[in-house]
Amino acid sequence: MSSFALRGARAWDGNADTAAETTVVIDGGCIEAVGNDAGADESLDFSGCTIVPGLIEGHAHLCFNAAPDWRAVYDNDSPGRMLLRMAANGRAMLRAGITTVRDLGAPTDLAVELRDAIASGLTEGPALLVAGSPITTTGGHCYFMGGEADGEAGVRKAVREHVKANVDWIKVMATGGNMTPRTYPTSAQFTVEELAAVAEEAHRLRRKVAAHAHGVPGIRAAALAGVDTVEHCSFTTPTGIQLDTEVSALLAERDVAISPTVSIGFRRWPDDGRRESRAAAIRDMLARGCRFLASTDCGIPGVPHNALAGGLQVMAELSQLPPVDVLRMATSGSAKILGLSDRGTIEPGQRADLLVVEGDPTTDLSALERVRAVFRGGRCVA
Ligand SMILES: [Zn+2]
Repeated sequence: MSSFALRGARAWDGNADTAAETTVVIDGGCIEAVGNDAGADESLDFSGCTIVPGLIEGHAHLCFNAAPDWRAVYDNDSPGRMLLRMAANGRAMLRAGITTVRDLGAPTDLAVELRDAIASGLTEGPALLVAGSPITTTGGHCYFMGGEADGEAGVRKAVREHVKANVDWIKVMATGGNMTPRTYPTSAQFTVEELAAVAEEAHRLRRKVAAHAHGVPGIRAAALAGVDTVEHCSFTTPTGIQLDTEVSALLAERDVAISPTVSIGFRRWPDDGRRESRAAAIRDMLARGCRFLASTDCGIPGVPHNALAGGLQVMAELSQLPPVDVLRMATSGSAKILGLSDRGTIEPGQRADLLVVEGDPTTDLSALERVRAVFRGGRCVA
């Protein structure tokens, strides 16, 4: 395919504080040049728009339908129907400018199949990093996805089986969750020793570990065990949300990245102080230097797959960070935490995963909802 230039727009490179007018030349799936379009065969005019790196969603469930009847739909789906649902949800994300997605919970075989089908061009979608079924205790959070394991030997074997099945990440449920009856978000599910066995085995096999944790005992255990990202990290207690500064200091000291799963669902929370408490916890972790990626837990009830732009606006409200800092989390920041050095920025040699929007999202995140075009691997897909 011949090279082409995106002209007339501002571009934000994923790192800078502002966007600047320039041209971006794409050739062979990669960014060939920025600011010099002398060699381009064709050009597209995007006057009035801003080009940003394709967005990265750090915590998704492609297999869920984002509706209150999610569990009945999940239980009634045949494997074939679920795979089609996952593919459709992936396409919706891609059209919203989300070009890379970390899926943190789905039947392992389906997640791996879809990732490979997208990578081979069999179906359109974002690049996927998949965890398959989360490793959980017997009857633990999301046990119905098939990842039950107990004891240090049991969880080591589960990690080995997951790597054998070719997952990219290991997801482990360090606490119970709101979506599984008879599990308790405020209680730890595994011991520190079990979580450490997960982390050690995963790292030995060159996989990173994402630990779901709501309550303080689980967050602390995950940090002590050496996981790479803590999902939710909501500091949920039996009586509400309450930051524990000893644990947030531990997260910062161990350089555990935070995946906050902040979404438009937060807008529907009752006015009971939880939002403020969650915001205070996020600001405390940021102030201590914790690295954050962007994540929404999309697929759960009330959080559509393509609503990352809305989630980023809520994140800006809670964190009180400038829009450009939140945009960095969803691009270069997420790419670094996920170990993807070939994306998240607009620089020569990077994958041409790009989102073109009307307006300037470095000052107004709602511009991300005004999608003009999406490129993935240099191909215009929306
Ligand atoms: Zn989740």
